Amino acid sequence: MERTLSIVKPDGVKKNLIGEVIRRFEQKGLRIAGLRLINLSQTEAKKFYIVHKERPFYESLTSFMSEGPIVVMVLEGENAVAKVRETMGATNFKDAAPGTIRADFATDIERNVVHGSDSVKSADYEIPFFFSSLDLH
Ligand code: UDP
Ligand code: MG
Repeated sequence: MERTLSIVKPDGVKKNLIGEVIRRFEQKGLRIAGLRLINLSQTEAKKFYIVHKERPFYESLTSFMSEGPIVVMVLEGENAVAKVRETMGATNFKDAAPGTIRADFATDIERNVVHGSDSVKSADYEIPFFFSSLDLH
């Protein structure tokens, strides 16, 4: 059993894709252990994406992530990290496999609808960033 963090990014929320994203995860057999609709400040987004602080897209990414509400969720199941990444598709929607969330709904490399932890180690940082253990079920 594994837990991972996923986010419906501001573009996904604006396009009314919250239900669609959750449906796809549930269809893969993943269980929702925690779920919230929140606004991030750019300062918080910068902390969340601290691993990318040297990358050229850091400012733009963190500005985008704070432009409107996002849905943060914890998904639980066997191989949850890999299952969420598979369901999302590649970072660049042009490389994303057909039928993945990003292939179907992303409009550019930045505005790619969803986030998912890339490893169990990342999930161990990202889950407590948003959820206390009392908020996980
Ligand atoms: N991103 C971007 N330009 C790039 C690479 C990434 O704007 O060249 C954005 C994109 O929104 C991506 C996020 O930064 O989802 C985090 O990048 P990462 O490489 O961790 O991709 P992910 O794990 O989300 O697939
Ligand atoms: Mg990543």
